[in-house]
Amino acid sequence: MLEVADALAEVLKHARPLKTEVAALTSSALGQVLAVDIPADMDSPPFPKALRDGFAVRSADCASPNAELKVVEEVPAGAMPTKTIGAGEASRIFTGAPMPTGADAVVMQEDTQPLASSLQGGGWGWVRITDSAVKPRQHVFAQGTEMKAGDVVLKASTILNPAAFGVLASVGKTAVPVYPFPKVSVLSTGAELVEANTKPMGGQIRNTNGPMLTAQTVRGGGLPRYLGIARDDFAITRSLIREGIEVSDVVLIAGGVSVGKFDLVPDVLKELGVRVHFRQVRVKPGKPLLFGTAQDGTLVFGLPGNPASAFVGFELFVRPALRILGGHKEPGPRTIKLPVTEGLAESNDRPTYRPAKTELGSTGWSVRPLPWSGAPDLLGLQPGDALISLPAGDTRCDRGAMMDVVLL
Ligand code: AMP
Ligand code: MG
Repeated sequence: MLEVADALAEVLKHARPLKTEVAALTSSALGQVLAVDIPADMDSPPFPKALRDGFAVRSADCASPNAELKVVEEVPAGAMPTKTIGAGEASRIFTGAPMPTGADAVVMQEDTQPLASSLQGGGWGWVRITDSAVKPRQHVFAQGTEMKAGDVVLKASTILNPAAFGVLASVGKTAVPVYPFPKVSVLSTGAELVEANTKPMGGQIRNTNGPMLTAQTVRGGGLPRYLGIARDDFAITRSLIREGIEVSDVVLIAGGVSVGKFDLVPDVLKELGVRVHFRQVRVKPGKPLLFGTAQDGTLVFGLPGNPASAFVGFELFVRPALRILGGHKEPGPRTIKLPVTEGLAESNDRPTYRPAKTELGSTGWSVRPLPWSGAPDLLGLQPGDALISLPAGDTRCDRGAMMDVVLL
């Protein structure tokens, strides 16, 4: 029986980033990991840009109070200036417009007065600058301030978050090499299971693991494919697991991995040529937890049938594997220390991951243990967004004690 850290290390030893592909930058690429460095194709801004509506001026011309400047043209955003600003001249300019040659600053409209009478005789008239402290470069975004042509703007292994989509657009990228989201097949086993749309009859229960693991897969950065329920039937179980291995990068099998007469999964895997690396982990909930690799490299997880156990097993072992397959550098699980909102007193025969909820109070973040009655209790776990990690043996701690917490 492996310790949690050793079991995770064994899983990660067999998890390799998937072959990269080119993804179009549609919203379905959100969260994918970039596979190459992305350079800027041009400077941004591509020209010195006005940051205010006002007048482009030579700052030196504005040193004396109430300087009056001749307006030589108007430059809206999206147009190019055609006039050079000489001594005593200015251009009317708008936010986002390129600065005219000769000007080195923008004076905000609010710091100017139009000289209406000066409009007589045509032209753009004259403007009075009421701000006598105009500094060179004020309200001007110099060319290349954000990025220069050739600069790497996004490094390989950047996660494509919404800002990354904007940055890629700014350098003209509409498709980029990324790691694919791993494909994950989800199979439930158990002769007692019926799907959610069916009322259970004598001895039956509804299949909760199928929908739950499918959703955990999506949250963990995988693309799920639900294979259905394999009753505790050898041939059905074998054909569905074989299908999963053929079409996916990861196969999740819930239930049937323990040591009972109907726990067929280990024998089926043996027949399918899956190399089993471990079958048990010293953890609660979820001791029976199998990990193997198929001949084609597909990762195969046999998760415990009890829903809370399957849930925790997924978070501790499957989710980190999905991250590595999907090109992430850090597999997780993300663990931090937080104070508990109430004292704990419990005894565990194995290291335990206890459902909990993080809370933000006036003194910062803390973690509240949820009322929970063990491996079959999924409802108790449901409000949780964290797992408090407890060592084997007696845990006695007071409110405020710092505990290791896995963030989900
Ligand atoms: P097993 O690991 O197959 O021995 O199952 C352990 C326990 O989990 C049994 O009480 C099963 O009925 C229950 N169980 C197994 N699979 C599921 C499932 N997909 N949904 C809900 N409960 C399950
Ligand atoms: Mg079973």
